[in-house]
Amino acid sequence: MAINRTGLLYDQRFLTHMTGDESAVITREKMFHLSPAPHPSSSFLIQRTKEFLDGSGLSAHLHALSSRAATLDEITTYHTQEYVAGMHECAVNGPMIGPFTRSWGFVDEDTVISPGSYEAALYSVGGALNAVQATLNGEVHNAYALLRPPGHHAMSNQALGFCMFNNVALAAHYARRTFGVERIMIIDWDVHHGNGTQNAFYSDPGVLFVSLHQENWFPGHSGTLEESGSDKGIGYNVNVPLPPGTGDRGYLAAFDQLIAPLGQLYRPELILVSNGVDACWLDPLAQMMMTMDGYRQLTLRVVALAEELCSGRIVLLHEGGYSVPYAPYCTAATIEALSGIDLGIVDLYATSSELVRCQEIYSPATQDALHAARETYMRWWKI
Ligand SMILES: [Zn+2]
Repeated sequence: MAINRTGLLYDQRFLTHMTGDESAVITREKMFHLSPAPHPSSSFLIQRTKEFLDGSGLSAHLHALSSRAATLDEITTYHTQEYVAGMHECAVNGPMIGPFTRSWGFVDEDTVISPGSYEAALYSVGGALNAVQATLNGEVHNAYALLRPPGHHAMSNQALGFCMFNNVALAAHYARRTFGVERIMIIDWDVHHGNGTQNAFYSDPGVLFVSLHQENWFPGHSGTLEESGSDKGIGYNVNVPLPPGTGDRGYLAAFDQLIAPLGQLYRPELILVSNGVDACWLDPLAQMMMTMDGYRQLTLRVVALAEELCSGRIVLLHEGGYSVPYAPYCTAATIEALSGIDLGIVDLYATSSELVRCQEIYSPATQDALHAARETYMRWWKI
């Protein structure tokens, strides 16, 4: 196998999506301001992660892939033409901060669209497509796209949860249209529910969507067991809502009990992963207690599954991850596992007793959640 077998896609343009600062503190009686701190989805996080990959020497072992602007034709495989024009209009008039509704759609209160955001979002989608292209045409064995803005919450005409265009859904459409791929498995282990991706393929058996996420978290009431697909896609939309504090063992059990058996029955020709590192124990936007090693083990498993089922054809697309100190570690561990490179990076919190707890916990609530998911999807799959 060639050296540099794993592609790494990154583009400086991703940093021109500026989400601004936050400073407000709200008490029962009033609101006041502190010195500003970066918005949770600040460009700072991706920049630090890229610096980590470069500084550790990991980037030098990877095959650098470049991005491009996705075309309107490619973006409208999911999004409406009016919505794409609306995103452009917001950027021209930006910064625009939701919530607001227009004739073309909706932007929520979490999502900021700055003057550079439209171009960054076009390149984020184009990056996802290029990573898929490089993997399917054999330029690389597999790939990691360090994208920004993220995509899995974006609906056909709604910008939600920091997302403008749905990178992973558009990547799946691209693989089908350009390479004739008939069965794609999308695994979404970002801690939030991939509602936009679910929506894109809800009645479509050509995509098996499996989401592990914190139950009833974001978007609220989204990602329940009852949302199992419709029409020809019934059973092909798999939600695995997990309780807070699931930890490494719970995620790995979810993989072993649900993701791997489903993959073996579905036999995808390509696996796409929405990799959010916001299930980590230090993430300020969730409560799932994954560690750097948990991300490594989870990725090793999905790589082995891809080797077994689809000649190793797997592309990971970066979604969320908001712990400034720890997200770069979790991302690096993911890419190490994807590429088979081990640089011996020591966990930033290796001396913390909390880290051990995150690795060992496997609560009855987690076991019940996995049991409930298996019971639900046994209706369609022999798992
Ligand atoms: Zn997330």
